Amino acid sequence: MRKDFADQVSSQADTPRSSRRAASRLHAFKRPSFGLKRPDMSSFKFPLRLSGRGMLIALAAVLLVWGVAGSGGGSEARASIPQEEWITAEAVQEAPIGTPWKRELIQRGDAASPVLLRMGYARDEVNNILMAAKPVYSLANVRAGHYFTGRGEDAGAELFYAVDDERVLHLSKHEQTWKAEMQSRIAFTRDSVYEGEISDNLFSDAARAGMDDRTTMNLVDIFAWDIDFVRDLRTGDKFRVLVEDRFDAEGRLIGSMINAAEFINQSETFRALRYTLADGSTGYYTPEGKSMRKTYLKAPVKFSRISSRFQLRRKHPVLGFTRAHRGVDYAAAAGTPIHAVGDGRVEFMGWKGGYGRFILIRHINSTHSTAYGHMRAYAKGIHTGSRVRQGQLIGYVGMSGLATGPHLHFEFRVNGSAVNPLNIKRDPAEPVPAAQMARFRAEVEQRMQTMGNAAVRLAWG
Ligand SMILES: [Zn+2]
Repeated sequence: MRKDFADQVSSQADTPRSSRRAASRLHAFKRPSFGLKRPDMSSFKFPLRLSGRGMLIALAAVLLVWGVAGSGGGSEARASIPQEEWITAEAVQEAPIGTPWKRELIQRGDAASPVLLRMGYARDEVNNILMAAKPVYSLANVRAGHYFTGRGEDAGAELFYAVDDERVLHLSKHEQTWKAEMQSRIAFTRDSVYEGEISDNLFSDAARAGMDDRTTMNLVDIFAWDIDFVRDLRTGDKFRVLVEDRFDAEGRLIGSMINAAEFINQSETFRALRYTLADGSTGYYTPEGKSMRKTYLKAPVKFSRISSRFQLRRKHPVLGFTRAHRGVDYAAAAGTPIHAVGDGRVEFMGWKGGYGRFILIRHINSTHSTAYGHMRAYAKGIHTGSRVRQGQLIGYVGMSGLATGPHLHFEFRVNGSAVNPLNIKRDPAEPVPAAQMARFRAEVEQRMQTMGNAAVRLAWG
């Protein structure tokens, strides 16, 4: 009965995912963090070295080995339990046996109540259900394409709504009242370490190491502010990624995330860890607790005032006709230093029409570039192709090109289009608060060990 329901709910939220071609990898199963009742296995880890063709094979192999271990006699074996017991979620309360499940699709434009009425609940009962759900999850938020699945109307009746891939709203009727709780669909998690070396291109090298493209995309995002994956990758660069896969009770993969990653780019090592702060926000941090998400300098010149803002229509002071102003002008004395607002590479340096002496910097996060115009002179050592650091001196304020007085014309471009630099979303990029550093360091230590040990096992196993 229970399995029947789980099949239905899971099938609507199954995430398609490319199969993992495994070169070499290592998995460690962890006990489920919640959702299932079972013996305490908090210290139980079962590392395995696998070289299978696909995830199903890997999973089957693990189940098999786990089962075998269960019949053995070692201390680890005693910690494991037969798979029938841990693979099936335990129902909180069973409806009378034989009561059939009803399932109703939420149509476009549907609200929860008409759907529940269609399922046969009386209007009063529908109101009771909505009221009971509200403190846990408001059914005003139900989405088309999702289902209600339920059975029974009297005591013991149950109703489920799959909120997303990882959560199910469970309503159950105890005597006359409905009670709601959010249940996790995550029945167990698995840690995997993938590692590889750049020989061809990142995506194919990562796939060879067993990573799927989505995880590789996430890896790129995490290091986007430190590594220019378009221009800076070199043969021999290395990566190592600790991924947590989450499965539902039926063993279906419902999500995965990178918990730690290391990338060695041109002999420089970058590390990132996923961490949830006390306020519940989650982000990636360096082992020192700094945010991986860096920000840009607020302005490229100090001690200046904004003399003209970004606007799509304005009368040009020199040309006299209406023309968009796609940047911000900073009025400052001629010769005032101009600084790169972020790390990157000089993509263009030279005379460019009305811009006069002009520099275009392509930033590490390669969808971003910044432009600097009307310079009096360029800084020594800066040329097309040079690498610049945030805050580095690149030139001096002037009035070359079309300018009525000394100022810096500054543009911020996203995918080549100018956006208002003053509206650039500057992520807070706050470090881990000092008060939370002890807990953070402990977690860093543990994750690094997991990644490191895995590598040793892979190398020697
Ligand atoms: Zn301007």
